[in-house]
Amino acid sequence: MAGHEALGPVPTLDEKHSGTPKRLSKEAQEVRARLFSNHTLPASQPRKRALRLPPGVSQESFDTAVRELRGAIGSGNVELNDKPLVDGWYIEHPNTHDAYHIVDQEELVSSATVYPGSTEEVQATVRWANKFGIPIYPISIGRNLGYGGAAPRIPGAVVVDLGRRMHKVLKVDGENASCVVEPGVTYFKLYEEIQKLNLPLWIDTPDLGGGSVLGNAIDRGVGYTPYGDHFANHCGMEVVLPNGELLRTGMGAMPGPNGTDNPTWQSFQHAFGPSIDGIFSQSNFGIVTKMGFHLMPETEHQSYIFTFPRDEDFEQIVDIIRPLAQKRILGNIPQLRHVIQELNVTGKTKADFHSGTQPMTREEIRAAASKMPLGDCSWVFYGTQYGTRESIASQLETIKASFGQVPGSKFYLPSDLPKDHYLHDRALVCSGVPVLKELDWLNWVPNAGHLFFSPIAPTRGKDARTIHELIVAAHKRHGFDLFPTLCVAGREIHYITNIIYNRADADMKARAVRLMREVIAECAGKGFGEYRTHLLFADQVAGTYNWNDSAFMRFNETIKDVLDPNGILAPGRNGIWPKRFRGKGWELKADDTDMSKIGPRL
Ligand code: ADP
Repeated sequence: MAGHEALGPVPTLDEKHSGTPKRLSKEAQEVRARLFSNHTLPASQPRKRALRLPPGVSQESFDTAVRELRGAIGSGNVELNDKPLVDGWYIEHPNTHDAYHIVDQEELVSSATVYPGSTEEVQATVRWANKFGIPIYPISIGRNLGYGGAAPRIPGAVVVDLGRRMHKVLKVDGENASCVVEPGVTYFKLYEEIQKLNLPLWIDTPDLGGGSVLGNAIDRGVGYTPYGDHFANHCGMEVVLPNGELLRTGMGAMPGPNGTDNPTWQSFQHAFGPSIDGIFSQSNFGIVTKMGFHLMPETEHQSYIFTFPRDEDFEQIVDIIRPLAQKRILGNIPQLRHVIQELNVTGKTKADFHSGTQPMTREEIRAAASKMPLGDCSWVFYGTQYGTRESIASQLETIKASFGQVPGSKFYLPSDLPKDHYLHDRALVCSGVPVLKELDWLNWVPNAGHLFFSPIAPTRGKDARTIHELIVAAHKRHGFDLFPTLCVAGREIHYITNIIYNRADADMKARAVRLMREVIAECAGKGFGEYRTHLLFADQVAGTYNWNDSAFMRFNETIKDVLDPNGILAPGRNGIWPKRFRGKGWELKADDTDMSKIGPRL
C-alpha cells in the first residue's frame, strides 16, 4: 500500500488502548509490512460523498444535536466522520466504517463517533440519541473484523466507541479467579495486567488477541482454553438500557454493604429470578459498560497435532472426536483444519503456490503441502491437554489410541516441528497467551479482507460431511479457496470458513456476497444455522430461525419495542429491527445480492 512507510511504529499498549503489547512490537511491525507489501490500494482516497447523515435527520437538526452532545461530554469527544476513510489494518483499525468492506467502502459508514468516558456519559449519550432520534451503534474495540468491524448497520448512525476512554481492568481477584473489565480492555491488555500482578491466572483468548474481552463475549465469541466459551464464563454485567437507565445482572442486582459492589457479583452468574444476561448478547437491547469473567488458574498443558492422510477420513475423525469430547478427555475445543491452512498461515501469498485467480487444485495443495513440515496430508487436528504431567500423559495415550484407528494418522509435539511452525503459536493461544500470528492468513490475496461463514452442525460424521460438501461445492461454484476451521465440541461443531477477497476487486466481492447468500440458504435447508454473522447477512440468518411463524423473532421484537420505543440502539443488529425501521425496506434478505446501496428499498 502506497504510503504505509509513513505510518510510523505500530502503537503499543502504553501509547494506545488498542495497541500491541511491547513483547509483540517487532512481530506487529513485520506482520504489517508483510500485509501492506501485498496491497495495491492507496491508504485512503478522497470521499465521493458528503458526510452521511442519520436517516430522517436534517443537516440542521444534526448540527444542533452534535453541538449539544459536545457540550455534554466535551467537544473533543465527538468526531464527525467527514475525512477520507482509512482501512488501516488489524491493529490500526478504523472506527468509522467496515475496514473489510464487502460493499462499497462508503456504504457502511457512520456520521460521527462519540467517546464517552464513563457510564454516566454513556447514559447521557443514550438520552441524547432518544431526544434527536439518532441511531447509535456501540462498539468496544471495533475489531469484529469479518463480521462488520466497527460499522453500524444503518449508514449515518453515530458510533459509540466505548473503548477509547473506558478501558480499565477494574478488578482482578486472585482468590475468586475472576476479573471485571470495561469495554476497551483487549485480551492483550488483560493478559499484560495479570502478568504485572504476578497472579497464576490465565485469560482465554481467541485466535487473535486484539479484540475486547467484553465485546467478544457479548458477541458470543470463542477461545481455546477450557474456558473457551466466553459468554458461559462471564459473571455479572452492568448495562445501560436504551432509555438511559442502569441495570446490573446476576448477584450485582443486590447492592453490597455500604454502597460497595455485591461481594458475590463475580461468583454466581444466575442469582435469583430470570437469567436475563443472555438477552444482552448478540442483540441491541443495551450497552454493556462493565462485565465480570472467570479466569482459569494456570496449569500444565501440552499442545499437539494429529494429521490424517485422506480427505475421506473426515467423517471418521469427527466420530472419533465426539466421545472424546463428551467424556472431557479432550482438554479444550480442538480445531480441525484442512491442510491448505498450513500454506496460508505461513504468511505466504497464493501466488507463491499457484498462478492465476482460480482456486488451488487438490493436486497443487498436495504438492505444496509435501514440502511443508507436516507433509502431504488432508486434515490437521490441533489439540491441547491440561492437568498434571501424569494426567496429560494418560489422556494422550487414550487420544492416540482413538485417532490411531485412522490408517496413516500421525502425531506431532511442538518439539517435532520447526520453530516457526504454527503449532508453537497455537500452544500459546491454548494456554491463554494472546498472539498475532493468525493475521498472516490475510496475505493470501492482494488487499485482503474476509468474511466469516460460521454455521453450527452436530458432531456426527454424517452431518459434518453433508455441511462440508455443501460448502465445498459453493466455494468451487464461485471460485474461492476454502479454508475450513472446525471447532469441534462434544455435541456441536462451529464450522468456520474464512472467505478471503480482494477489496479492490468488485467482481470478487460480488461473488463472495453470492457465495454467502447461497451457503446460508442451503445450510438452513438442512437445518444448519449460523452462530454469528456479518452485519449485512444478519437479516437473512435471523430469517432462517423462523420456527412457528418466527416466534423467536417476534419475541425479540416485542422486547425491542418495549426497551427501545424510539428505536435508537443499533437498529438491525442481529436482524432485530425496532418498530420505527421494521418492514420499511431496510432488511436485506436472501435475494439481496446487489448491496450497492444500503438503505430503505421500498
Ligand atoms: P471486538 O471486541 O472484537 O473489537 P466489537 O467491539 O466490534 O468487537 O464488538 C462486537 C460487536 O458487539 C459490535 O459490533 C457491537 O454490535 C457489539 N458490542 C460491542 N461492545 C458492546 C457493548 N459494550 N455494548 C453493547 N454492544 C456491544
